[in-house]
Amino acid sequence: MTRTEPSFRESVDLMFNRAVALMDLAPGLEEKIRVCNATYTVRFGVRLRGGIQTFTGYRSVHSEHMEPVKGGIRYAMGVNQDEVEALAALMTYKCALVEAPFGGSKGGLRIDPLQYDEHELELITRRFAYELAKRDLIDPAQNVPAPDMGTGEREMAWIADQYARMNTTDINARACVTGKPLNAGGIAGRVEATGRGVQYALREFFRHEEDKAKAGLSGTLDGKRVIVQGLGNVGYHAAKFLQEEDGAIITGIIERDGALFNPKGIDVEAVRAWLVRHGGVAGFPDAAHTAEGGAVMEEDCDILIPAALEGVINLSNAERIKAPLIIEAANGPITAGADDVLRGRGTVIIPDMYANAGGVTVSYFEWVKNLSHIRFGRMQRRQEEARHELVVNELERISDALGKAWTLDPTFKEKYLRGAGELELVRSGLDDTMRSAYQSMREVWHGRDDVDDLRTAAYLVSIDKVASSYRAKGL
Ligand code: GLU
Repeated sequence: MTRTEPSFRESVDLMFNRAVALMDLAPGLEEKIRVCNATYTVRFGVRLRGGIQTFTGYRSVHSEHMEPVKGGIRYAMGVNQDEVEALAALMTYKCALVEAPFGGSKGGLRIDPLQYDEHELELITRRFAYELAKRDLIDPAQNVPAPDMGTGEREMAWIADQYARMNTTDINARACVTGKPLNAGGIAGRVEATGRGVQYALREFFRHEEDKAKAGLSGTLDGKRVIVQGLGNVGYHAAKFLQEEDGAIITGIIERDGALFNPKGIDVEAVRAWLVRHGGVAGFPDAAHTAEGGAVMEEDCDILIPAALEGVINLSNAERIKAPLIIEAANGPITAGADDVLRGRGTVIIPDMYANAGGVTVSYFEWVKNLSHIRFGRMQRRQEEARHELVVNELERISDALGKAWTLDPTFKEKYLRGAGELELVRSGLDDTMRSAYQSMREVWHGRDDVDDLRTAAYLVSIDKVASSYRAKGL
């Protein structure tokens, strides 16, 4: 990144300002929405390897127009206050856009998780969770973390357990964090939810001829050339689903140790297995490897999916990005400056706050499931089972009348009840959410002469929602 670029938080603010300039908000409300309400910094020591190691962590609360506030906890060496605040702001806008009833928050711990074994990570995570929970920065009614880069189900289970130990009489303790493993109160489909959401977002985009035409694309996802930057949880699932279910061709994969490129397509599942075994993509047999990974982002393709860190598309490379369509699976992968360059060239960008909202959407389902103390969709399932009984009785009566000349297919029950399980309900709820959020952005994108990009449209929709909550509160 060149020195002339703003910081991540400033970049988010610039994009916010561009949208807010097109709105007519009450004086002062714009500033109230933009600023981060509070950021807590904690430094704590953990006894490790015969000494004490000090760690620095953050939890930032951007907007409390709805509570609890929501957002992941990131474990990475690059974590800092500016980043956490930018990510918290994006959570506010993201939740508003997809109508998840939360304010925005984000946390981070400055740590390289690969340098610690599981037991050490548990000690560190529990201590961090203790520090946050003590100050209501983990609480089912006030602040509900989730996974982000460098954390996953395992860390969420430790956080949930730590909170439960500190709050033994809180019957809703499980709802203090989302992204937990299934056996600790998690929900089916949460792990892959963000990647699924990216797939559903692209499917929705490809349903609209006019939208595809803006990117110079046509047809379906089948055969489209896709480059993915980052094969972590989000990039891996998005690429896998697009390849296996939509017929997209993954031509490039960029990882920490370089990039793979093969115009005929790369098997995502095989690369993931290679990555897990070797810690990098170098040496993968069925694609060309380049140590300078960034160059692969600039290859010719139909869709580019930045799915890792912020700022990877910036003033130093924006001019050379050829993809006509970019979907931001990561938070903030395009700097404000690069966004100007790309927009100027007519690149269509499906913005982060919409594109990666699948994670928090399914987190919302998990939180509701925990608070309702009933398996997600259990009532629907019971109803479907009762209906199935009625249908079977009727069919058996007909079979008897026909002298049993006809019998029921033994797989009928399974087929009948398909769609009534937790995973199916999560998927259809997610699909529905991604579709309607797209529609709301799209109406603004096409309906206003002063809006010519999806990001501004997304900001307009979400800021309007946040503003009306503030107004309803009498602020
Ligand atoms: N960390 C994810 C995000 O950036 C998920 C947040 C959540 O589920 O609360 O959206």
